[in-house]
Amino acid sequence: MQGMMMHMPLRIIEILDYAAQAHPGGEIVSVRTEGDIHRETYAEAFARAGQLAHGLAALGVSDGDRVATLAWNGYRHFELYYAISGMGAVCHTINPRLSAEQMLYIIGHASDRVICVDLTFVPIVEALADHLPEGLTLVAMTDRAHMPDSKLDWLCYEDLLEGQPSAYDWPVMPEDSAAGLCYTSGTTGNPKGALYSHRSTVLHALYLAVTVPRSLHEGARILPVVPMFHVNSWGLPYAAPLVGASLIMPGGKLDGASVFDLMEEEKVTASWGVPTVWLGLRAEVEQRDAVPSALDQLVIGGSAAPRAMIEFFEKRGVDVCHAWGMTEMSPVGTHGQLSKPMQELPFDERMALKAKQGRRVFGVELRIDGEDGKPLPHDGTSSGELHVRGNTIISGYFGDEAATEDAFDADGWFGTGDVAVIDERGFLAIQDRSKDLIKSGGEWISSLDLENIAMGHPKVASCAVIAVSHPKWEERPLLVVVPRQADDPPDLEEIHEMMLEHLAKWQLPDAMECVEDLPLTATGKVSKLTLRKRFADYVLP
Ligand code: ADP
Repeated sequence: MQGMMMHMPLRIIEILDYAAQAHPGGEIVSVRTEGDIHRETYAEAFARAGQLAHGLAALGVSDGDRVATLAWNGYRHFELYYAISGMGAVCHTINPRLSAEQMLYIIGHASDRVICVDLTFVPIVEALADHLPEGLTLVAMTDRAHMPDSKLDWLCYEDLLEGQPSAYDWPVMPEDSAAGLCYTSGTTGNPKGALYSHRSTVLHALYLAVTVPRSLHEGARILPVVPMFHVNSWGLPYAAPLVGASLIMPGGKLDGASVFDLMEEEKVTASWGVPTVWLGLRAEVEQRDAVPSALDQLVIGGSAAPRAMIEFFEKRGVDVCHAWGMTEMSPVGTHGQLSKPMQELPFDERMALKAKQGRRVFGVELRIDGEDGKPLPHDGTSSGELHVRGNTIISGYFGDEAATEDAFDADGWFGTGDVAVIDERGFLAIQDRSKDLIKSGGEWISSLDLENIAMGHPKVASCAVIAVSHPKWEERPLLVVVPRQADDPPDLEEIHEMMLEHLAKWQLPDAMECVEDLPLTATGKVSKLTLRKRFADYVLP
């Protein structure tokens, strides 16, 4: 029997429309590329999104067209998110850290009609100029006074809005309509596009609001360090206005000192980002011997949050929520919010739970498959490839049949490429990306386990473990360390002792190499591919 309820298609623009009415105190504070701080309320952002939609329509943008952005976290980028999707077009966020070749590939693959660019990234577009598709309209995200001096023809963002009415007749379209496009950085092969819909985006915002209330509530002030060019800043530009939290947008200033200062000045209550950025904040906290005064929660994801980092912030009164997800999942799949009884556990037990990747978000199903493709029990020891299913997970890659075919199993579950275990309480522990596991004499060694422990050594600033080839064992682990002080490296023996408390002797790294810094991917994670290449000819002692 069919239910008898109205069916209103879910639309992203309704989030901002709602925030403008329901949360008049909510604001977007942005560190601008022009150098100053800018403030606007959600009501102002909604009005400007209306003007912007008129401006884009005047450029000929219509239903389903792709409009690209190449920009930091800021209010204009936020307005673009809503105006583009609201008018029925698709907001394609481009990661400025991609190589020129990858960037040209995705601009062409997405068939972008317009590209809106922050001043910082104008030189990137200039460098690509000879290879850009014909007819691509360039918009500089600034006002008339700050237009770039460039050999290219740029339209001015503020001119697009100038004189336009703020009311826009936002179309009602099927909720499965495309709204956003984000390519994974693709360490091998071409980048692959995740094409989000209005429905998946609104549902994801609702899931987040329910899942991470400690960050997302009325009056909260959230600093998304995770960029808007990386999986929609993990959904914060949607979830924050929905609940009435303000967004503090850091622009391009992402070093520890700038983030600390902005947190202090704007009384930031929560901040989300990948572990590498928290290394910078951690150093700043140590130097100033203080945490930003209003900071209550850090959400860490994108790669494994080392236990030592979690403990560092927890001991200073900042709750750490360790989350896991993927571009293909909008992205959040699991979260580390502890239940009330878990919060009462002794510190050590709580930290052990927080070092895992957490429990599933409502609406996301998790399955661990053995080598025969059959589901394994959630017993904390059975390890296999993690598969996921749900309304916020891609059903295929945009315009890429071959990649789509590889990504799903016969039942339609998406294969994450992560190797993991799930315990009886539903806590996920990622052991590795399947391609980063170290295969030693037919047994697997988790590089994440080794890194997690090594990070706890006081002389280790950051580290990565990679496989190097071995004549007898096939592969063996090599520990690559960035020491806190270059002239005072950690002692491998000491690290081994720490590891032996949790691991078997054969799992320990055979050698340690010290480096000045670790290579990062376009999304700010350690690039193990680059490291493996660098140490390809490494001879173990
Ligand atoms: P990219 O492929 O560009 O790195 P994603 O950001 O989508 O794109 O990366 C998703 C992957 O990042 C996951 O499949 C997983 O391997 C890793 N990852 C994300 N969060 C965590 C986490 N908390 N712990 C360990 N690995 C993580």
